[in-house]
Amino acid sequence: MLIARRQTPTATRSAITTVESARENIVSILMKRPSPPMQTVLLCREALSQLGVLRASLVDVNARSSSEQQGVGAARAIRAALPGLTTLANEVRTHHQPTADLLRDAAARLIVSEARAEEKEVPAGARRRIRIGSDLLYHFCLTAMPVEKMLVVAGRVSGPDVIIGASFEVTGTGSVAHCRADPDRLAQALVSMSNSGCHMAMWIHSHPGLGPGGTYPSSIDTGQHSDWIRDYSSDLVSGIVVEDGWIRLWGTALEHDDVDVAIEGDGVHVTRDGRHLLLHLAE
Ligand SMILES: [Zn+2]
Repeated sequence: MLIARRQTPTATRSAITTVESARENIVSILMKRPSPPMQTVLLCREALSQLGVLRASLVDVNARSSSEQQGVGAARAIRAALPGLTTLANEVRTHHQPTADLLRDAAARLIVSEARAEEKEVPAGARRRIRIGSDLLYHFCLTAMPVEKMLVVAGRVSGPDVIIGASFEVTGTGSVAHCRADPDRLAQALVSMSNSGCHMAMWIHSHPGLGPGGTYPSSIDTGQHSDWIRDYSSDLVSGIVVEDGWIRLWGTALEHDDVDVAIEGDGVHVTRDGRHLLLHLAE
């Protein structure tokens, strides 16, 4: 369970797979006829070289004996490579969007591997406690309006706890009934979280309607939640807010009783709706 579950394959192995498949895709872009514009070719070659350096570091790390040494080494190698890859993705975007998408996708996957590499084992039976300050809940409610804005929220692992921190607005295009994260803003948020030693711990969006009844997740929301927990952390807590100060905290980690949520501070009335938490903020 939980973000601390060590994944198989190891984070180092999955980072190597990410790098190798990005390299193969770049090579096939270079082999295409007609050739891409010269500037794209140069940027692709630079990306191949940077990914080659990262692959060599990761293969080296993968040969280490202890999983903890591997984790530390892989995280360090990925952190060293990320700024260069992100810069290249931005530079190539004006010349060749598919290459930019490919590099951005690889960077997002590497960020996930980096977070996994640094996870510490949690003792069997131990549960994560997600600690949320009530001031942040007020902040999320204001920031997620008007309907239907989307936020991703950073969390920092501290012993058995995850301390909830800053939110990043990532609203993309979509109708009121269905909003999606903007890929660029999401990537920037993930890089910021990674640089500051955090992971994506919450996902929050707003709904039209009022009261607890307005906060039920739609089928699109539960689908999005499944995608997030596959790509990011399995103890992700999802939140839906409505205008009159009701917030529902939901998601598989809560529904399976894998995490505890602790609301710290004043001004939030906490009740339960099944396994979900229903919060009401003073208006
Ligand atoms: Zn929704």
